[in-house]
Amino acid sequence: MAIIRPNSQAGIGMTSLRTRERMLVRLREQGIKDEVVLSAISTIPRHIFVDEALSIRAYEDVSLPIGYGQTISQPYIVARMSEILRNGQPLQKVLEIGTGCGYQTAVLSRLAKEVYSVERIRPLVMKARGHLRELKCINVKLDHADGNMGLPQIAPFDAIIVTAAASHIPQDLLEQLAIGGRLVIPVGTDEQILFLVERISQSDYRQTKLEPVKFVPLLGGVS
Ligand code: SAH
Repeated sequence: MAIIRPNSQAGIGMTSLRTRERMLVRLREQGIKDEVVLSAISTIPRHIFVDEALSIRAYEDVSLPIGYGQTISQPYIVARMSEILRNGQPLQKVLEIGTGCGYQTAVLSRLAKEVYSVERIRPLVMKARGHLRELKCINVKLDHADGNMGLPQIAPFDAIIVTAAASHIPQDLLEQLAIGGRLVIPVGTDEQILFLVERISQSDYRQTKLEPVKFVPLLGGVS
């Protein structure tokens, strides 16, 4: 008689699927309503973005360290920022500042036609590139650069998301927003607030204060 051993990989897969479902229930309870965002999140395995030792915590609603003093964003904030950017509409060309390990980038790749993401720490760009390749996110382009400048050669963007806290809203990013476009950015040092900036016309922008958040700082230059 053959002994059937449970496959340990399959075991991990089952657990992550179940815990991922629990994460979605929690996101709904926290007020995330956009089904397209929830469905995108359900397709991205968050555990592959963190070190194996932390993967057991990958579906908790917490940010986790990814090395180089940086973190992977909390699932709630990834969902919330994606929902704000989408505003119920499909996204075309999106710019993300602060790729980190690429989790938010992967979620965006399921929500937009094209995603450009900029990261200032080279080893994180390499790490993110590996994860995004594994998940076949073929509509994403990563750049090792200082995101404060945006990507003028690719602009305008219909959505810009900054996933590090800025001391002020960078002028270059405002200029690279398409008319009708939306920028979501955490602003502040000790106390940070999430802002939505909408470009109404060539010269008019509408700024809305959303909610308190906690991000690593947006720094200058590359490393
Ligand atoms: N989007 C990530 C969050 C990463 S944390 C996620 O889904 O988990 C924020 C990232 O912003 C860090 O990796 C940090 O190195 C990067 N960052 C900070 N200042 C930056 C800048 N000026 N340009 C590009 N990336 C920056």
